[in-house]
Amino acid sequence: MKKSLILFCSFALALMGAGCSDSQTSDKDGAGTNASVKVAKKAAGKELRDIAGTKTLVLGNGAIVTWIQDNVGEKYMPRSLFSDASDSLFNSLNKPEGLPASVGTFLVRVDGANILFDAGFGAFGGKMLSRLMSLGIAPENVQFVYLTHFHMDHIAGLISKDSTGRLAKTFPNAALYASKAEYDAWMNSIPQNEMQKNIMGLYKDSLHLFEFGDELPKGVTTIDAVGHTPGHTAFQISNLLVIGDLMHGYALQKDHPEINSNYDMDKPKAAESRKRILQYARDNKLLMAGMHLPPPGFAE
Ligand SMILES: [Zn+2]
Repeated sequence: MKKSLILFCSFALALMGAGCSDSQTSDKDGAGTNASVKVAKKAAGKELRDIAGTKTLVLGNGAIVTWIQDNVGEKYMPRSLFSDASDSLFNSLNKPEGLPASVGTFLVRVDGANILFDAGFGAFGGKMLSRLMSLGIAPENVQFVYLTHFHMDHIAGLISKDSTGRLAKTFPNAALYASKAEYDAWMNSIPQNEMQKNIMGLYKDSLHLFEFGDELPKGVTTIDAVGHTPGHTAFQISNLLVIGDLMHGYALQKDHPEINSNYDMDKPKAAESRKRILQYARDNKLLMAGMHLPPPGFAE
């Protein structure tokens, strides 16, 4: 455990861009919010003030969704991550610094419950926990955590060091949900899975495994988004579609869903899922929430 933790921390720090300054997000960056979302916000009659690194919107059913930026500073996905894209296509985007992105999680407040979608890096260099608390949500008061998949930047936030220095659950009272396909793959066949096994072991008494199509508590449905990982899952609640890691380079993939990132473990399946789910979101005018969309984490 100790060795893997050290390895993981250096991996996390490299990914998080340690040393960057914290950034205030704004609507003008990347995938902003458009008029229909602002109307929804107004219709709910609530004044929702955004604190740094968060963005809050009201959904069609009155639930409140907040993007919580986990990464520090600005994040760009490099050209080298998109081998599928030709030079001419990539250059046409005019983004020589890379594609704007983020690492984020989403909090949904519905029917008195707090649901967290993924947990980011959390205590391993991420801002998820401090920002969650600045929203007035103590980790003890998160009732549900729904996971899109088991990559480190989505699950490391599930664990923190307790007062004795031992690793413990960050969310001691949360029921944890993941697809059976994702769980089985990481527990049985994917190498370098020590951290995943340790985290799932800590949560074993509160872990629930679902099949695609199952409905989870609070009216959240689960959708097959396989390809990025063997059990990658999208979630829908009201007009919100949580898409996980369906897109790493929004500026490129929103119009070219056939192009994968090199993080996608099964590229043909990832491309199929991306095409199908983007079309579904457009046909049903859903608000997409993506863990690597550019700030503020939403797209329509
Ligand atoms: Zn990711």
